[in-house]
Amino acid sequence: MHDPSTAPDDGSGTLFGLDALTPGTPAAASAGPHEPLPPGPPPGPCGPRSGPSFRDSAAARRLLPVREILAEPAAAASPRGRQVLARFPDARLTEVDSHWNIPGLHGNEGRVERWVRVKGETLVLGERKTLATRPNGRSADWIAPGPSNGCAMACAYCYVPRRKGYANPVTVFTNIDRIIAHLGRHITRLGPKTEPNQCDPEAWVYDVGENGDCSVDALISDNTADLVRAFARWPTAKASFATKFVNPDLLALDPRGRTRIRFSVMPPDDSRLLDVRTSPVAERIAAAADFLDAGYEVHFNLSPVVVRPGWEEAWAELLRHLDDVLPDRVKGQAAAEVIMLTHNQGLHEVNLGWHPRAEEVLWRPELQEAKRSQNGALNVRYRVGVKSAAVARLQALISTHAPWLRVRYAF
Ligand code: SF4
Repeated sequence: MHDPSTAPDDGSGTLFGLDALTPGTPAAASAGPHEPLPPGPPPGPCGPRSGPSFRDSAAARRLLPVREILAEPAAAASPRGRQVLARFPDARLTEVDSHWNIPGLHGNEGRVERWVRVKGETLVLGERKTLATRPNGRSADWIAPGPSNGCAMACAYCYVPRRKGYANPVTVFTNIDRIIAHLGRHITRLGPKTEPNQCDPEAWVYDVGENGDCSVDALISDNTADLVRAFARWPTAKASFATKFVNPDLLALDPRGRTRIRFSVMPPDDSRLLDVRTSPVAERIAAAADFLDAGYEVHFNLSPVVVRPGWEEAWAELLRHLDDVLPDRVKGQAAAEVIMLTHNQGLHEVNLGWHPRAEEVLWRPELQEAKRSQNGALNVRYRVGVKSAAVARLQALISTHAPWLRVRYAF
């Protein structure tokens, strides 16, 4: 997900077990999904990566120690469902009527100790009933019906869980063929893009990861691979997704420039506090050239920008790091989205139960104002003056420290 501008229609999300990771602990030290890229031939022009899949590694298993799979019967019986079940043969399978409103799973945000564990140990298999592509115009031209709903990581500010309740593990949508067929029809109907815009000068951009993280989805099933391969065949369109997880398996997919991966970055101190269970920021940045060489377009999400004491110097340092370590070929094609933090009162209250230190920087009533969302939730965002000043300051920092980084939009 990662981009509040895409306003989820189908939210879910996943936080990870407190027993597995203490908030604020550097994820690389304990959570596991942060090992260096496995050895193998270089990706891209030299051919696809060979050797064992990252998703079969111990690190991937630590991220997703799946013990229970809740499945709609048709989803379990589908080819994609069977693939997922085969990946986790020791998991207990339970049939459910619908991937929505599963008793004992959803809406139990009060049971903090349990819901944080559930997010790693439980998967849901369902069929996406609504196949609708929505206009966006900021992060992407269009928001595609995503291949999943939920995430195995635990960013304290994540909006994704709010529609299913906070104990919301990944739901894999098994009817990926219908999702891809829907997208193919949409792309065909649109025809070529005739007017360049900030989303892309020539391709219609479809965000395929609104309610999850496609890099993590690829640890579970081939849904992400199927989408990347589909977009590789569509010359007028481009997939786009934001990620906070480095999954080297994606390097083997041959996207042919038709998938934009947006590595979300923030100052490492903020990330260690807030991005629980994600790949470290330095690892995301270090992976950029590999992904470019493998055929992806590589952009960055500078998000969320959290205003806290020292934030300007922290962002300046991050931008200097980007400038220092990224090769020119990455800089030459990179662009960025700048997204200021938005937060939510319900999530604030949940976080106080498991990660109160995060709320010290996320919940700043003296800087924020409330806004009632369409679904009745009370969201908070930085007050207009605070936000505009911060956006201007960050853009000035980018001009100074990473002048090659074009800002596609900032809000
Ligand atoms: S990576 Fe973080 S922000 Fe993105 S969907 Fe997962 S938990 Fe939410």
